[in-house]
Amino acid sequence: MKKFVLRFLLYGLLALAAAVAIVSRRWFEWHGYRTKAAQSGITVYSDLDPVSVRGLLGLCQAFREYFNSAVLPVPPGKLDVYLFKHQKDYYGYCKRVRATTNSPFGFYSRRHRLIVINGEMGTGTVLHELVHHFMHTGQYDLPPWLEEGVASYFERGLGYYEGPAKLRLLFGYLNPVRFQEVQASALANELSFASMMRSQQTASTFFVYADRCRALHAFLEAYLATKDMDKSCRLALGIDAATAERHWVEWVRTQVLGFDFEFWQRTQIYATEAEFDQLLGFYGARWDDSLEIYTANQ
Ligand SMILES: [Zn+2]
Repeated sequence: MKKFVLRFLLYGLLALAAAVAIVSRRWFEWHGYRTKAAQSGITVYSDLDPVSVRGLLGLCQAFREYFNSAVLPVPPGKLDVYLFKHQKDYYGYCKRVRATTNSPFGFYSRRHRLIVINGEMGTGTVLHELVHHFMHTGQYDLPPWLEEGVASYFERGLGYYEGPAKLRLLFGYLNPVRFQEVQASALANELSFASMMRSQQTASTFFVYADRCRALHAFLEAYLATKDMDKSCRLALGIDAATAERHWVEWVRTQVLGFDFEFWQRTQIYATEAEFDQLLGFYGARWDDSLEIYTANQ
């Protein structure tokens, strides 16, 4: 009899949990979209035109492939993206679902595997939120400063279509406005690994530095394995944390901010290689083999 009651209670609890999950899922659904596009588990819903929606889906797919091969393995899985054309509708949705975020850009719901984007703020946000999704589905357990720093690093990308369905993505560029703030703190002797752990923008600058040392992937792997800054610096950069901190601060201090290709404000995707070549020509930018970025610095 006791066994029967326990089993009854257990099944009751399971049914309740399933009902809560369904209600919560419905609660987060958005029915005001006009366009829907799906491929390989990723579905984009939007009130934007079909061309923009397919463009965003292509960017999500290309970034998943890029991250999987160049950064950390990403298991395949379902993801929904809600892209709001108008800011007021994005805020209306956030209010309706009582989202805990107050971000004007967008957010990621781990529970629903859902990215919600304010389309008026540019496409960089989707790359940032995709990093959170990859970290979640890959079960990469990183401290918030590190995950946010990596997500911020990938916010600014450049890309161009090499073929009708082949989008080439480029990363490793610095946001001029944000970098200026980080450089000011370096010049005021206030930049350190301790300050980096309080600011995602500062952390993203460290990842650009690690990338310039060709050590971004190695640093992430080392940190995941050791959860220790000193050990990660030794493994990825070949120097202890105190020396790495000095080198990074010096690198930040000595970057010359200006009309330069290495500083890039926002994510931009070009429809053809010819259009991208035009941009390179405008800046006089060339591929730098050692840095593995386009630069106009020489
Ligand atoms: Zn974030």
